[in-house]
Amino acid sequence: MRPPYIQSPEVPSHDVLIIGAGLAGQRAALAAAQTGASVAIVSKVHPVRSHSVAAAGGINAALNPEDTWESHAFDTIKGSDYLGDQDAIEIMCREAPDEILWLEHAGVTFHRNETGHLGTRAFGGASAARTYYVADITGHAILHVLYEQLMKHHETVDRYEEWFTTGLLQDDGGHCVGAICRNLRDGHLEVFNAKATILASGGVGQAYNPTTNGLIVTGDGMAQAYRIGARLMDMEMVQYHPTTLAGNGLLITEGARGEGAWLLNAKGERFMERYAPNKVELASRDVVSRAEQTEINEGRGFPDGTVALDITKVPRKRTLEALREIVNIGRDFAGVDITRQPIHIRPGNHYMMGGVKTDVDGETSIPGLYAAGEVACVSVHGGNRLGANSLLDTLIFGRRSGVHAAQRATQMPMPSTDNSRVSDAQKEIDAIINRDPKGRRIGAIKKELGETMNQYVAVFRDAEGLDKALEIVLRLKEEAAKAPIDDRGSIFNQDVISAIELGYMLDCAEAIVVASQERKESRGAQFRLDFPKRDDEHWLKHIDISVNGTELPNVTYSPVTITRWQPEERTY
Ligand SMILES: Cc1cc2nc3c(=O)[nH]c(=O)nc-3n(C[C@H](O)[C@H](O)[C@H](O)COP(=O)(O)OP(=O)(O)OC[C@H]3O[C@@H](n4cnc5c(N)ncnc54)[C@H](O)[C@@H]3O)c2cc1C
Repeated sequence: MRPPYIQSPEVPSHDVLIIGAGLAGQRAALAAAQTGASVAIVSKVHPVRSHSVAAAGGINAALNPEDTWESHAFDTIKGSDYLGDQDAIEIMCREAPDEILWLEHAGVTFHRNETGHLGTRAFGGASAARTYYVADITGHAILHVLYEQLMKHHETVDRYEEWFTTGLLQDDGGHCVGAICRNLRDGHLEVFNAKATILASGGVGQAYNPTTNGLIVTGDGMAQAYRIGARLMDMEMVQYHPTTLAGNGLLITEGARGEGAWLLNAKGERFMERYAPNKVELASRDVVSRAEQTEINEGRGFPDGTVALDITKVPRKRTLEALREIVNIGRDFAGVDITRQPIHIRPGNHYMMGGVKTDVDGETSIPGLYAAGEVACVSVHGGNRLGANSLLDTLIFGRRSGVHAAQRATQMPMPSTDNSRVSDAQKEIDAIINRDPKGRRIGAIKKELGETMNQYVAVFRDAEGLDKALEIVLRLKEEAAKAPIDDRGSIFNQDVISAIELGYMLDCAEAIVVASQERKESRGAQFRLDFPKRDDEHWLKHIDISVNGTELPNVTYSPVTITRWQPEERTY
């Protein structure tokens, strides 16, 4: 086998090119390879460093004989505040049990209970305990197993590890025919020809500060697709997770509340009893985050702008066994032994419900371009994602995209893109390297972007704040286009990459703000103080965002697919 880091003498040409090697990308690669297609999988970091490795609490499926996929689907639809597309949600929930069994047979060591059966834990917004888990390292466990499985297909799957995609390629007919990628080890660029391209490049958490997301989660795929005309959908729906550490934004998994932890305000009150009398701490994330923020805003939080998560309610032995990563996080990042005392937390940026609009096979509005995982919006999460439904989304729609893209590849010749595209891309990189050294650095601009989004486009929003956010984002876009970098070399030049990523984050931020301004109601993660009610009559529809030259993005609408569950009042 050709080692993945050695450049091929030929232009890389594959039936299916996958950009991203987290759970969605690796699942897509496996599915495509199993059909016999030739596959390239590109990742800007080593695949098992993809952000999916951080997923903690688990993955949902109605696998227990007493549970049903319909119940899982209804919980997901209610959790989405009726914005999720019910045809897609039905597919995801119906296919979930087989996916879990497939993973288990592939080698994922899911927790088993005392009777030897697969064990579950409760998660927010779910009417049954249907979250399957590996302690609190579920993403890590699944990602490593998928990577092992990928090795079996080394003859047909070429891995381009530490390669960075700078842009998508289109032919004269507007079809996506591959991408341009930069080898981070030596800085050289190459055209990757592909009959079908799948974006699996993750979310855009780094547009916020703080966030639970790692430094690599910078919205690359969303912005790249948007720049070639693909539609983005539900971009206003940005999830704030109820339990993140103040300051650094690190996540305390929902698994803690699933195991029985309580939320307390500074007066020691279990305040969720007032906001969600039935589900209490296990209401959906948007509801719990709003409740916490209300307690903090109304003066019942702690002076550091937090409330407390009391994990001492969970038996210590169980915490040490099933929540060991957050024991470490509490100790190392907050100086708290969570088995003995409450830990201060607050809502923090966590997940992007919106993304590149796709159908249930991952196809986007650009022929030949697919998207799956957090970069995509199918939309199975609508206004609010239920905990443990994202891993499921990555796997189900990653697999479906891989199969569909491979089928498409059987029907067409290999495209061949002119190598002049490489010199255009090289000129853009040279222009970044040769920028005037005066001016604010990338890091400072990124910090202002993140803090702006966290201030104005967070748990509560209003017109004034959103207008201010847009003004700042547009100013930062201009500044970012000229921001100097310090590293002028070619080997692992992270400065160049950061400059490109900042552009992606700003495009995504602009789309998020514009969509939030547009939706004049409160639904799911979008709570408008100036429009505090859900308004099904006018806003039971998706907001789609697309490019409009250099002007502000185009806003259009698309219908929400409702199969059998009519919208009703949402209480927990
Ligand atoms: C701390 C944390 C805990 C979570 N826990 C859970 C949980 O318990 N259950 C659950 O359901 N969900 C959870 N989530 C959400 C879930 O982990 C993510 O939504 C999901 O893993 C995203 O997977 P992905 O494959 O779409 O993207 P990622 O895993 O983010 O992978 C993106 C890939 O794209 C590559 N990439 C990006 N841009 C480029 C580029 N320009 N060029 C080349 N490669 C590129 C990256 O290198 C990477 O390989 C959690 C999220 C966080 C942050």
